[in-house]
Amino acid sequence: MDLWYTEKHSDNVGITMKSTGTLFSGKSEFQQLDIIDTLEYGRMMLLDGLVMVTERDEFVYHDMIVHPALFTHPAPKQVLVIGGGDGGSIREIMKHQNIELATLCEIDGLVIEKSVELLPSMAGDIDGSNPRVKLHVDDGLAYIREHQNEFDVILVDSTDPIGPAVGLFEEDFYRLVFGALKDDGIMVAQSESPFYHAEIQKSMYKNLRAVYPIVEMYQAFIPTYPSGFWSFAFASKKYHPVRDFDRERAANRSFYTKYYNEDLHLGAFMLPTFAKENIAE
Ligand code: SAM
Repeated sequence: MDLWYTEKHSDNVGITMKSTGTLFSGKSEFQQLDIIDTLEYGRMMLLDGLVMVTERDEFVYHDMIVHPALFTHPAPKQVLVIGGGDGGSIREIMKHQNIELATLCEIDGLVIEKSVELLPSMAGDIDGSNPRVKLHVDDGLAYIREHQNEFDVILVDSTDPIGPAVGLFEEDFYRLVFGALKDDGIMVAQSESPFYHAEIQKSMYKNLRAVYPIVEMYQAFIPTYPSGFWSFAFASKKYHPVRDFDRERAANRSFYTKYYNEDLHLGAFMLPTFAKENIAE
């Protein structure tokens, strides 16, 4: 009997993938966590039945949530990841040798535990062995209140605005992040699909603009996410992701990135008209 995993992206559209079985299935205090194996995309993590990461296309998401900010900020040293319990963002941050400490604040310890066990290609740096990585199992909203003026870059690698992540799309949270960043700090947050989530984007970018002088959207192609057309919000206290981008430093990077490069960095901020209209003031 063939096993197929299906996620609906709208009432009438979805994605379906042939699966070879379930590696883990369990419920935490916050959500249902499943890790399944698929023929086309390898192992993948589902939270409340929704695709979070797959071994085959996670490189796109993790390259794009990490590198644009770290190559725009002139000298980042302290980075905070809120969410990101699969470890993929931390893995990409660790490629930047100038980063002294990366802190992970993930609300669900089960996500970290099962990622370390079953998704080693992503979670290698969150198993407690890397001295440049600090792990916290905590609600990002609570953690951020206790850490003001501390970080150069904060990445909000969260789920969709459901369950424990609802508050991570609100103006109050963006103000707390503003306070946790140093005077020239940068925040990046995954900002859903311009194709399917126009309403979420409208309120999210309005909330961001109420707090940050520089707010830009950039895009990426993630095949297993709704419509494949995904986006990230770049919110900055001082540096602009295009005008202040250090193209030479990105071009001379000492490590490999399968999706991100210095040309794509600029192209990603060039949006289609309907996406611009989603976030127009
Ligand atoms: N790439 C994925 C996406 O775009 O949907 C996100 C992956 S990552 C696994 C998302 C993580 O955010 C989950 O592990 C979830 O537990 C965590 N999370 C949700 N709300 C949170 C909160 N308030 N504080 C910290 N982590 C949170």
